[in-house]
Amino acid sequence: MRYDKNESAGTEQNALPPAMLAPLQTPPVPRLRPPDSPFHKVFEKNLSVMLLIDPISGNIVEANQAAANFYGYRIEQLVAMNISQINTRSLAEINRELAQAAQPNCHRFLFRHRLADGRIRDVEVSPSPIESHGRRLIFSIINDVTERLLTEQRLNLLASVFSHSCEGIMITDPAGLIADVNTAFEEITGYRKDEVLGKPARLLKSRRQKAEFFANMWHALQSAGHWQGEVWNRRKDGQLFAARKTISAIRSAQGVTSHYVAQFSDITQSKERERQLRFSAHYDDLTGLPNRVLLADRMSQAMTQCTRRNSAFAVAYLDLDGFKSVNDQFGHAVGDRLLQMVARGMAAMLREGDTLARIGGDEFVAVLLDVPDLASCEPLIQRLLKAAAEPVCIGERGITVSASLGLTMFPHDDGSAEQLLRHADQAMYQAKLRGKNRYQVFDTGQERSVRGRNEIVERIRLALERQEFVLHYQPKVNLRTGAVVGVEALIRWQSPERGLLPPATFLPVLEDDPLTIKLGEWVLHTALTQLAHWKSQGIHLPISVNVGARQLNEADFMPRLIGILDRHPDCAPGELEIEVLETSALADLHHVGQIIAGCRARGVDFSLDDFGTGYSSLTHLKHLQVSWIKIDRSFVSDMLHDANDLAILEGVIGLAAAFRRKVIAEGVENAAQAEALLALGCEHAQGYWIARPMPPHEIAEWLATRTALGGS
Ligand code: C2E
Ligand code: CA
Ligand code: CA
Repeated sequence: MRYDKNESAGTEQNALPPAMLAPLQTPPVPRLRPPDSPFHKVFEKNLSVMLLIDPISGNIVEANQAAANFYGYRIEQLVAMNISQINTRSLAEINRELAQAAQPNCHRFLFRHRLADGRIRDVEVSPSPIESHGRRLIFSIINDVTERLLTEQRLNLLASVFSHSCEGIMITDPAGLIADVNTAFEEITGYRKDEVLGKPARLLKSRRQKAEFFANMWHALQSAGHWQGEVWNRRKDGQLFAARKTISAIRSAQGVTSHYVAQFSDITQSKERERQLRFSAHYDDLTGLPNRVLLADRMSQAMTQCTRRNSAFAVAYLDLDGFKSVNDQFGHAVGDRLLQMVARGMAAMLREGDTLARIGGDEFVAVLLDVPDLASCEPLIQRLLKAAAEPVCIGERGITVSASLGLTMFPHDDGSAEQLLRHADQAMYQAKLRGKNRYQVFDTGQERSVRGRNEIVERIRLALERQEFVLHYQPKVNLRTGAVVGVEALIRWQSPERGLLPPATFLPVLEDDPLTIKLGEWVLHTALTQLAHWKSQGIHLPISVNVGARQLNEADFMPRLIGILDRHPDCAPGELEIEVLETSALADLHHVGQIIAGCRARGVDFSLDDFGTGYSSLTHLKHLQVSWIKIDRSFVSDMLHDANDLAILEGVIGLAAAFRRKVIAEGVENAAQAEALLALGCEHAQGYWIARPMPPHEIAEWLATRTALGGS
């Protein structure tokens, strides 16, 4: 074929409006012959796809073998086709572009061409106008760029991921010199890109990690090609930040590392949150001391260490003496402050490595490491006791409490951590019984401890035989009318050696011992005898008696109670009431429910004591046919300054009304509380403000004075 450059460019086609450029409107252009021209050979054999197109009709005038191969048509077919059968654009667009392509110096076009089999390929078309037989034609070289476009798209996508990622990205060369970073990197580290390019990546290093850490990281990168973990880095301003980081080695097919890509996010904040969570899971909020969980951990560490090193450690269980009354007297805020100060004082006495934990209200445990024997921990113990008994100033008040301390030594006492605690607790209890503000060492070996406890139980049994127990009675009144509605019997131990002891000093020791039942029956007998005695004096006072969980849950509680009632035939229905702790009623609702029903049949009323302190007060009210509920002292004592307690009180009083139960408040200590209770609709009350528990003969006097003063 011949390109005659000298022929003038046809002007007519420029003058033709595009609308007239429809196919087949122009006479067919003869095919390029003869085939002997060297140019024709170049055309035919060329590996590039080539077409010759009539710009006016869009007809394909000539095509080479490469075109036939590419489009999947034979050459004869192609030359019978119009370009619009291949180009996917609209006819109008094609015509416009053909007109452009017929101009000299035209740019390349990107088209999508349809192949014979229907596949679509992206092609880049380089057109040049040529003259043939006096007509202008378009000589097009067509390049398949489908793959290239795909690759470009992918690269574009990667580039935008790189720049838009919220994770910092840093690319380094194999020597660790920074090759590229993204915007997030700049934001997180505070370094601008131009400041770090070519610098070593270790400029972010914080020195918080040991050499071993980096050795492991390199090892993982070398062997597995990637590393993932958390690392402390340093910002440009010197501040540290925690980063969760992934580093990958980019390797060639031959396994040669060309780059490292590090991706990281700043997790300083979540680390901080995690730290706080960990803190509150392991430390006590009030005092900042380790809590029970951390204590268990420290104890098991101490046990492992001692076993390995053949050494010993001590566990000291401390319970503050008189703390409860501080709380009752001055309120929780003062109680809390006291706990904080005592805790600080005691903690200051310990050596490094020792642990002081707070495991409950006013209970602490100290773990004293490396004390070979009792003698060596004695000074420490004395210091702890002294610190606890140090007077503290809260506001204007000077308050002094003390601590009772129980001690046990590992491995001399080689139980589990839990057993060690229990033993220390038992010893602490003995220290309390012996008069507080002192320590007691646990009698090693369980038998001996049981014997120790048994000794106390035996002493109580003896006391019962010797009639050392007495009942005191505390009046219950109607605040509105002033009427005395009954008395509560409260047990005391009139010990010849130690004086009058409150129930807290001996009842807990009996705990599960069958002696509690004997003692409980003694209380019932004594109260009923007193009832009859008062009656004979013309005093009609219903008596309520506290019955412990152990006694109540005995299978034969009912028949035994009936037996006792039978021996006191003068006790009329409604004159005996049983107070049962809400928490003890929990054990077996069905059983307790039956007892209550049986008692009611015999004219014995029930009262749920310490109401509001149990977990399922509502369930109890629903299932137990008690006549009274007794609001726990703690709510009353705080109702005037603690909105929560006031709300609970209101709730309890409302509940009682809803369930048609009578309600009584205990622990009323002043007129303000009494007034507030009345205002809330709680008419009945008991407490020091009305009268303290007193021996029976004083009750008659008290009643007399009260009547004289105008009460009923
Ligand atoms: P409780 O049944 O809640 O008894 C009320 C306790 O509060 C009594 O303590 C009483 O002296 C005290 N109290 C009364 N009014 C006030 C007040 O205004 N302020 C303050 N701060 N306290 C007040 P007590 O006598 O030391 O009894 C303690 C607990 O021992 C009783 O709590 C009861 O659960 C138990 N208990 C007492 N006697 C017996 C008994 O004969 N058998 C059984 N199983 N338990 C008894
Ligand atoms: Ca009671
Ligand atoms: Ca109570």
